[in-house]
Amino acid sequence: MIIVFLGPPGSGKGTYASILTKKLGIPHISTGDLVRDEIKAGTKLGKEAAEYVNRGELIPDEKILEILKNRVLKPDCAKGFILDGYPRTVNQAEDLNKIAKVDIVVNLNVPDEVIIERLAYRLICRNCGAIYNEKTLKPKKPGVCDICGGPLYKREDDEPEVIKERLNVYREKTQPLIDFYKKRGLLVEVKTEKFNAPPEEVANEILNLINKK
Ligand code: ADP
Repeated sequence: MIIVFLGPPGSGKGTYASILTKKLGIPHISTGDLVRDEIKAGTKLGKEAAEYVNRGELIPDEKILEILKNRVLKPDCAKGFILDGYPRTVNQAEDLNKIAKVDIVVNLNVPDEVIIERLAYRLICRNCGAIYNEKTLKPKKPGVCDICGGPLYKREDDEPEVIKERLNVYREKTQPLIDFYKKRGLLVEVKTEKFNAPPEEVANEILNLINKK
């Protein structure tokens, strides 16, 4: 089964996808994580990508497709995967169509105020990827992950000016995908009022939607 998560930055795509990956036994592929891995490894692709990421812009479609293809061709993807952060443009959705058949698209609809608050105070575990918030979801010990004891960090692009640009890019380039997938009968919506619920609860709700499809 191939599942796509659609939603603005900070809507919880990564959080829910990482819960569902365990429940469904298929890998979670975050193109944002793949890009950050390339940047960290200092590859040619990574160096080119860093310029876009730091400005809050999208990496050109052909470059991100190359990164995605390298990942989905690995054997663990044979039974399907969960995509988080791809596609982000109509052109990417068309590219994806050529390499995989999407079964369901889960749209997370979250108001801008919530997003800004979440991202500006977001902390991430460098070791296991768990997500915290300096205001609303503090770790027990400052700077340390509750789950694995790893160090917490702030993403460089979680800075107010860059967040604003990421949101603009989302509205302009990614939102049209909602209609694209609605027309194809693949879209399911997760309601905004659910977003204060514990992530595990929202993930279960998404699982129900997937099972009904
Ligand atoms: P966000 O929290 O903004 O959704 P991600 O971790 O998904 O962040 O992505 C971080 C950055 O990586 C994006 O701002 C963009 O520069 C780049 N990126 C990730 N996925 C894609 C994609 N599908 N197309 C183009 N650029 C991408």
